[in-house]
Amino acid sequence: MVEGAVYNSAESTPKIHELLNGGKIFAMNDEKTLITSSKGDGSLVFYTGCKTDEDWVRNSGIDFTDKAQVLTWFKTEFAGWDSIWLELFANASGGFIPRPQYCMPLDQTWEAQTNITMLGDAAHLMPPFAGEGVNMAMLDAVELSEQLNSETHTNLQTAIAAYETQMRARASETARETLVATEALHSPEAIEFIINIIS
Ligand SMILES: Cc1cc2nc3c(=O)[nH]c(=O)nc-3n(C[C@H](O)[C@H](O)[C@H](O)COP(=O)(O)OP(=O)(O)OC[C@H]3O[C@@H](n4cnc5c(N)ncnc54)[C@H](O)[C@@H]3O)c2cc1C
Repeated sequence: MVEGAVYNSAESTPKIHELLNGGKIFAMNDEKTLITSSKGDGSLVFYTGCKTDEDWVRNSGIDFTDKAQVLTWFKTEFAGWDSIWLELFANASGGFIPRPQYCMPLDQTWEAQTNITMLGDAAHLMPPFAGEGVNMAMLDAVELSEQLNSETHTNLQTAIAAYETQMRARASETARETLVATEALHSPEAIEFIINIIS
């Protein structure tokens, strides 16, 4: 994935701003995605998804702080896509962030410690195509606080173990869903997949 942002989208990228209308756009074709989201502060973020080698970021030779280089890459990689998308790359605020995507092992486990635990992406890294990363991180915090405050636990380690068991099962299920979505959204059947989800 290559991620960028536009701070004042109404002025900087007016065509996309109008198309977004305060919401989110999923564009899919050629087994690639371009997702754009409006933010409450008048900015927008966007990110591309392409199937490529794990070492593409290093081997591509692209300087992701150089807008012109990223724009040139986008024009080649997304050749045939409507020119409206160029507005994002030409007017991005600051540099781009390349994000190779990894997923936690679905059966990961570990022994609970007495004084430390993990929440959010640190505990369950996965591609973002289920759209659940922030929800999961917040739910982790709620469930951890419930276990820490529960009188059923006689010590910290059993409270942490109870939280982690629950969290790992929930995260595995979402990771499974996000892997399916990641594959489907970057396949020739991407449009059918998304229509099935929303209908
Ligand atoms: C392109 C993209 C799109 C996404 N879209 C969605 C979406 O639509 N919906 C959704 O729910 N989720 C989405 N996610 C996932 C979501 O962003 C993450 O799941 C969420 O941010 C995880 O929160 P976190 O607090 O665990 O980690 P982070 O948000 O990564 O926060 C960790 C923080 O720790 C800091 N940090 C790291 N190392 C150190 C250190 N050594 N010392 C001090 N601080 C440190 C980092 O700078 C960072 O601020 C998306 C992710 C990406 C990359």
